[in-house]
Amino acid sequence: MGGPSGGCIPEDLLNIPVTYEDVVKTGAIMGSGGMVVMDEDTCMVSTSKFFLEFTADESCGKCTPCRVGTQVMLDMLTDITEGRGKDGDIETLEDLSRDIISTSLCGLGQTAPNPVLSTIRYFRHEYEAHIKDHWCQAGICSDLASFHIFEELCKGCGACLRACPQQAIVGEKKKPHRIMQELCIQCRSCYDACKFASIKIEPAIPKDKPEPVTVDEGGSE
Ligand code: SF4
Ligand code: SF4
Ligand code: SF4
Repeated sequence: MGGPSGGCIPEDLLNIPVTYEDVVKTGAIMGSGGMVVMDEDTCMVSTSKFFLEFTADESCGKCTPCRVGTQVMLDMLTDITEGRGKDGDIETLEDLSRDIISTSLCGLGQTAPNPVLSTIRYFRHEYEAHIKDHWCQAGICSDLASFHIFEELCKGCGACLRACPQQAIVGEKKKPHRIMQELCIQCRSCYDACKFASIKIEPAIPKDKPEPVTVDEGGSE
């Protein structure tokens, strides 16, 4: 809500009255008055990083908490979304946010941490999954996701195979398809193309432990 420094609220607060007082109670602000609705295919960690990239870039640099603090937070969020998150990062982000809010000179620094604080407040489990399980459940953070076709759900329509830019999917028409993990770049195109919800997102496969190849590689076209 309210632009890049507004804050993110969950589905169960969707019906709050849009008044200054009610919105502030959620941890977000009215800001510019803009609202963006995102679904479960959105990663809230990378969303808060996206907003912070904007505010860190907009910082005029006059005061240290805003100039340096937002950059430190941005580096931490980058690490978390790329699989280098550590225990304690969430608490450090919260501490840094509070310090930046209370010591920055103007409204930009005083609100820049809002997306981070509000996503930690409402979507903490996503931060924990990124850090502890190396898992981006939305499949947005490519280092933290792997894509798998569930044979029992796959209709063999070939839409995923056609969407894949890596030729990483194999399978005959009307038969279960399969993703060759060693070629997959986790771009998510197959997941978006499948109309049968046959593709699931799971934690990343460690690079040194590729999934064994067990199925033949015939094409579906
Ligand atoms: S808080 Fe305001 S004055 Fe301070 S660096 Fe950020 S933009 Fe500049
Ligand atoms: S798009 Fe879905 S149903 Fe079609 S072949 Fe791919 S996984 Fe199977
Ligand atoms: S995630 Fe991208 S690269 Fe991987 S199998 Fe799906 S479409 Fe291909």
